[in-house]
Amino acid sequence: MTAGYDAVVVGGGHNGLTAAFYLSRAGFRTLVLERREVVGGACVTEEIAPGVRASTTSYIASMLRPEIIRDLDLARHGLRMVPCEPALQAVFEDGWVLPWWTDDAHTAEEIRRISAHDAEAFIRLTARLHELARYLQPFFLEAPPNLYARGWGKFREGRRLFKRFRQLSGDHLSDLMRFATGSLGDLVDRHFESDEVKRLYLANNVYGMHAPPYRPGTAIGLLFHMLSGGDEQIQGFNGHVIGGMGSITRAMAAAVREAGGEIRTSAPVARIDVRGGRASGVTLEDGTEIAARVVLSNADPKRTFLGLVDKGELPEEFRADVEAIAMAGPCAKVNFALDQEPRWNGVPEEADPNRRSLATLVPTLEQAQRSYDQHRWGEIPDELWVDCVTASNVDDTLAPEGTHVMTAFVQYVPFELANGTWDERRDELGRRAVERIARSSDNVAGSIRAMQVLTPLDLERTYGLTEGNIFHGDLNIGQLFFMRPLPAWSRYRTPVDGLYLCGAGAHPGGGVTGAPGYVSSRAVLRDLKKRR
Ligand SMILES: Cc1cc2nc3c(=O)[nH]c(=O)nc-3n(C[C@H](O)[C@H](O)[C@H](O)COP(=O)(O)OP(=O)(O)OC[C@H]3O[C@@H](n4cnc5c(N)ncnc54)[C@H](O)[C@@H]3O)c2cc1C
Repeated sequence: MTAGYDAVVVGGGHNGLTAAFYLSRAGFRTLVLERREVVGGACVTEEIAPGVRASTTSYIASMLRPEIIRDLDLARHGLRMVPCEPALQAVFEDGWVLPWWTDDAHTAEEIRRISAHDAEAFIRLTARLHELARYLQPFFLEAPPNLYARGWGKFREGRRLFKRFRQLSGDHLSDLMRFATGSLGDLVDRHFESDEVKRLYLANNVYGMHAPPYRPGTAIGLLFHMLSGGDEQIQGFNGHVIGGMGSITRAMAAAVREAGGEIRTSAPVARIDVRGGRASGVTLEDGTEIAARVVLSNADPKRTFLGLVDKGELPEEFRADVEAIAMAGPCAKVNFALDQEPRWNGVPEEADPNRRSLATLVPTLEQAQRSYDQHRWGEIPDELWVDCVTASNVDDTLAPEGTHVMTAFVQYVPFELANGTWDERRDELGRRAVERIARSSDNVAGSIRAMQVLTPLDLERTYGLTEGNIFHGDLNIGQLFFMRPLPAWSRYRTPVDGLYLCGAGAHPGGGVTGAPGYVSSRAVLRDLKKRR
């Protein structure tokens, strides 16, 4: 049994580190326990070949909150980001390329080359998205409304919501309704005529979403992306992180230690201890018991409640609701060390290296719909949607000169295969990704020095993401805001007194934002101060 802490954080992902920073800064003795040998969770830089490092899981910093960058002083701790310019770039099979620049007028000009009608529609739709995102943005860094408040509490919650929404016009509200409940496919079909523009929108929707483009509720992904990020607080910011995504969590870990927090790696937690209905600490896999006044879990809800808390400590109905959280898959990652910089059909060779670093190989909406259905029944789809980023184009710290680092995010891949296992079919997935890339690049296939394939099973086994779900639970309207992770428990507290969720499974959800870590720390601080 080791000495007690005020707070123990299970998991050193970026949200666990963020929460630990705020608790340590407030003077509470805080310990982070990470099962892996490195902190960072799904926000890491790792060696994929001798001397070659890559952002093995997350690869673009698109939503990291500026408040967190400032509070943790991440720049002083070594964080440097370079805006992606364009933010993304769709590369089509016929050699046509469509970039989405950070400057909307510039993007509209690109679209005008295809369709004047679509260029105008793009300007109108983007303006509406920006405006709506501005209203929703404050919700990102505060707890969702408490649906279960009573008496004055209910009144206060109502007043808070009213304050946020009082400026919203009827147009905004109907837009919000459309984005929240409509499908991305119907939205772009209504506004645009060209296939390329529709595919660009599909490419800008949230990756890792477990839904086909024509499913109601998928349009919300466009808004989610706009909820700002980067140190400039640019809506829809996309950035390369110098040194890979692990630079974010390395800097966060330094901030935690500077604030007085402790971090232990290779320290898997076997159990969250509960006495008299209250979390009392944790027991590590090696049997070490660590006492704490509160426990925060950065692990996903299923891992936390079904794996770490004794069955008898939770209501049966709660456990059943947790089991029903939609997670499975649907993506994989293939990371490459290459002998040559990838050449993309249609991307000018003389273009800026930053621009040459991005190539999203996005299918048509109909094809994406079919691929989703195939993956839904356990197949590797005929057509893979692959998002390639050659980080070494803007970052010479990743690999020796002459070696290029390209990561490829692969969408619509099942967690459970209908035939065979992922250990048997890992190479097939890698080969299929390379074949898809080869249709848009003539030199990638021939210049592969090393390739790391992370199947959904690897995401679960190595990174602790249950069912390989990169967001600790799908980002769909039924699992967002006051529904995340469950309607009665969306404010970080749990049925076990003194146990909190602080990771992506809680509001506002996944992505490298730091937001769940930040907001959960507020709830924990309030409770700890009360008990003090
Ligand atoms: C392939 C992939 C690509 C992605 N791409 C992007 C992207 O480009 N941009 C973006 O913004 N987001 C991206 N994401 C999503 C994003 O990385 C995650 O949503 C986010 O990192 C989750 O952060 P977290 O801190 O909440 O949880 P995690 O990063 O999952 O951290 C949880 C930590 O808890 C640890 N843990 C679990 N159980 C225990 C235990 N029993 N004991 C001790 N430790 C434990 C885990 O090892 C892990 O370190 C991607 C994710 C993946 C997997």
